[in-house]
Amino acid sequence: MMEPSMRQAGDLSCAPSIDAQQALARAEALCQQRGARLTDLRRRVLEIIWSSATPLGAYTILDVLRDDGRQGAPPTVYRALDFLLAQGLIHRLASLNVFTGCRRPGSHHSGQFLICRDCGRVSELSNPAIDELLRAETDARGFEVLAQIVEILGRCPDCLEEPTRHD
Ligand SMILES: [Zn+2]
Ligand SMILES: [Zn+2]
Repeated sequence: MMEPSMRQAGDLSCAPSIDAQQALARAEALCQQRGARLTDLRRRVLEIIWSSATPLGAYTILDVLRDDGRQGAPPTVYRALDFLLAQGLIHRLASLNVFTGCRRPGSHHSGQFLICRDCGRVSELSNPAIDELLRAETDARGFEVLAQIVEILGRCPDCLEEPTRHD
């Protein structure tokens, strides 16, 4: 297996994983329901994101598209990412400026993430109590929330078990 790292475009052209296949099927169904167009490029960008063990930046995605033989330019990738964000199919992790696939794209949620500092893998939490607590706190202060993503940096159980990964 490949070693997960924050920027790895290498093995993304291989067959999509079960996760990726399920995510693509979900995305297609959702877009159809909403009358949104999941174009070939948007679909491929989503597939690239899901095929990576760690979240990807726009330029890594662009590299994979170019490996595909597509005429990719940064604005094209950003437009595709904007579409996927607007449809709730992916999340953007602002602290790293990378994108990760959403596991429950049908539901409205802002996203809470555990980000491993060592391997870069991310797990999405889905605890509505956290959203409710934050909403109560912001409401109490009369603060209008425009974006709310909780990012928690740490070390995942796998990396904790591997003392050699220490830097
Ligand atoms: Zn999500
Ligand atoms: Zn880790």
